[in-house]
Amino acid sequence: MELNELTIKQAAEGLKKKEFTSVEITRVCLDRIKKRNKEINAFITVCEDSALAEAKAADKILASGKGDVLTGVPFAVKDAICTAGIRSTGAAKILDNYTPPFDATVIRKIRQQGGVLVGKNNCDTFGHGASNENSMYGPVRNPRDTGKVAGGSSGGSAAAVADNMCIYAIAEDTGGSIRQPAAFCGIVGLRPSYGRNSRFGIMPMASSLDTVGPLAKTAEDVALLMEIMAGQDKLDATTVADKVPKYTKAISKSVKGLTVGLPKEYLDVEGMDKETREIILAQAEKLKEAGCEIKKVSLPFTKYAIAVYYIIVPSEDSSNLGRLDGVRYGVRADAKNLYDLYAKSRAQGFPEEVKRRILIGTYALSAGYYDAYYKKAQKVRTLIKNDFENVFKDVDVLLTPTSPFPAFGLGEKADDPLAMYMADVMVAPAAVAGMPALSVPVGNNKKGLPIGAQIIGPRLGEEAVLQVGNKLT
Ligand code: GLN
Repeated sequence: MELNELTIKQAAEGLKKKEFTSVEITRVCLDRIKKRNKEINAFITVCEDSALAEAKAADKILASGKGDVLTGVPFAVKDAICTAGIRSTGAAKILDNYTPPFDATVIRKIRQQGGVLVGKNNCDTFGHGASNENSMYGPVRNPRDTGKVAGGSSGGSAAAVADNMCIYAIAEDTGGSIRQPAAFCGIVGLRPSYGRNSRFGIMPMASSLDTVGPLAKTAEDVALLMEIMAGQDKLDATTVADKVPKYTKAISKSVKGLTVGLPKEYLDVEGMDKETREIILAQAEKLKEAGCEIKKVSLPFTKYAIAVYYIIVPSEDSSNLGRLDGVRYGVRADAKNLYDLYAKSRAQGFPEEVKRRILIGTYALSAGYYDAYYKKAQKVRTLIKNDFENVFKDVDVLLTPTSPFPAFGLGEKADDPLAMYMADVMVAPAAVAGMPALSVPVGNNKKGLPIGAQIIGPRLGEEAVLQVGNKLT
């Protein structure tokens, strides 16, 4: 096995036993990036020099017998997450030259352990998309089939992990952006409960839905990362004070006795790929054999999740993006006056999908329409959340497909925003409700494309989610 193919756990053990050094594993990852990034386009920025310097520093710590589990292990970060001293564009030209002076809280925690940052991942601009084709730095190709999309918006992060350009990646999930690319590329990705991990330093998309979580090769690695990333942060008032559980302990527990719900709204929907459905149902059988009780359940308000999501998210997007005016960073257009400067810089610095969301969101929030759209969507959001809370009185977790279909072709949905929005149909509901949800790879279809199973849990129920996910991988 090559060093870049290791899991975090394996890499940490090898480093501790001095079987190889951090500089060695980092070099192998950087070489892989050099070889593959031209085609896959998973990175916007590669930090070769700083990564090697960080690896050397990690090797010193390890040589003295010290170090934590992430010391010296190479990782990548979605470009919509701020990294101190490293350019962070959010895949937008309007932030093309932005270098944050600070780390996002979750990144600070990883770097404090001595994590080695190899680069910043391509994504749909500001997280707007489900295929990574809305990036101003070009689309990401799926390493499993380069004619297909890697998923979005964290397509670069999922492709980088799946193609062994790094050991794990940190990304953001507002409405599926960690889970769907993880499913399309055949790796594991967790959207934590809203408030579990600090959002400080994440470029805000829809503040009431944004979460930050890990993408890795195993559920065990995800559990390990969550123990480090989670916790209250005084820089993010929405983080919860609840103690961070020992996720790595939870995953080794037997799933026997757990009740798993199979919601009909995720299996019998229009456009559902037959093979995907069969593969997911086979997972339910597998869990049954392992001693779980499988219960058919229903969440009737699920059918409104996409409509609710695509009112609330563009509304919050339009408000958050108001701060980007072309004055301080990135694209600054030639203009005769201040108004012109704002208008032209924003016209050049944002891609079409971002403009579409600013227009939809501004409309939905405007006087006269606010009650009919935004307020109504918030009310239906509560009904969707109630559905989940009711069902979790009867079941421990829900099992669903992550996506109704496997990775689709590049260009296939690019000109049809509504078709692209519908790709989120299985990942938006948990996001709207603030619930944790994990995607795990559960096999390939006949064409060799990976299929992801989604495990949704109750709020702060990451332990059961990871426990069941671990059983399925
Ligand atoms: N496809 C979703 C969207 O376009 C994903 C967003 C996200 O999670 N960042 O809004």
